Amino acid sequence: MTVLITGGAGYIGSHTVLALAETGENVVVIDNLSTGFSSSLPEGVPLFIGDAGDENLVEGVIASHGVDAIIHFAGSVIVSESMRDPLAYYRNNTMTTRNLLNAATKSGVKRFIFSSTAAVYGNPDHTPVPEEAPTRPLSPYGCSKLMSEIMLHDTAAAHGMNYVALRYFNVAGADPQARIGLSTAGATHLLKIAVEAATGQRNKIDVFGTDYPTPDGSCIRDFIHVSDLAQAHGAALSYLRDGGGPVTLNCGYGRGYSVIETIEAVRRVSGRNFAVQCADRRPGDIMTMVADTRRIRATLDWTPQFDDLDTIAAHALAWEDKLLRQRGGGAPQAMSA
Ligand code: UDP
Repeated sequence: MTVLITGGAGYIGSHTVLALAETGENVVVIDNLSTGFSSSLPEGVPLFIGDAGDENLVEGVIASHGVDAIIHFAGSVIVSESMRDPLAYYRNNTMTTRNLLNAATKSGVKRFIFSSTAAVYGNPDHTPVPEEAPTRPLSPYGCSKLMSEIMLHDTAAAHGMNYVALRYFNVAGADPQARIGLSTAGATHLLKIAVEAATGQRNKIDVFGTDYPTPDGSCIRDFIHVSDLAQAHGAALSYLRDGGGPVTLNCGYGRGYSVIETIEAVRRVSGRNFAVQCADRRPGDIMTMVADTRRIRATLDWTPQFDDLDTIAAHALAWEDKLLRQRGGGAPQAMSA
């Protein structure tokens, strides 16, 4: 039994490859390396450089490696980019998933785990958000993932496939041993930007909106450590192999931290000060996004190990320090208060 992981050289994909490889699972990766890095893969994991939507490639890999399950990460993930170029998102996310599902059904693969997103909810009426909340995505990114979820649902019903669609909340942090982390240049994630500021790669961080009706005026997010999320994929695989049926699950901890609290955590764990500036609200931002986690906790055998904001910040920082050393950036700059 082998698991095909598309996008396995990317941020969440590579942490999942590592987690599965560490449990002795056979994995094979398809990644076009548009944002991923082959160096993020553990030694011995076969990598096929190409598109997850290339049906010939996928069918060949399934046949040659005895693939019994697919975990599909490959795709584009930047909301603002999806606003500027929606068709790229419908191609890279929706059309790719369609082709991958077609290859899977033709090859008889009956287990599928899909990377979805809390962005499918849009602006929720209530938080924490349960899976049955209305799906009203506000961006082509969210729409492209929701359309993929719908295709997955219909394909599973028609072909007797079982699946787990995991709706990620705010994924952050890095491997606790700093073997891998978020390496993609130009990342827009809050914690990545905060650790770039803490390592002197940015001279400040903007807080987008301090006038929201929240305790400190900034937005609230449910940050989940990437290694816990990777373990959730392993648990989802076990669930499917044990005969579990189609299910959609929120992936978060069910607890929110504000943007300002998150930046403070990076300051605290780094011991480095950096400028924080109040800025206008970012268009399209949702005020509070926190997962209702009852279903994932009831469905999967999954116990998070890193449900602590300072731990997430410390691991993100350790990885950023390492990246900087690898690039020859020297010691991080400490700035005075
Ligand atoms: N954010 C911020 N400054 C930044 C980057 C992000 O204030 O430099 C805020 C952003 O406005 C949002 C939260 O941090 O309220 C999380 O943003 P991110 O892009 O990390 O994830 P999202 O929740 O938008 O998917």
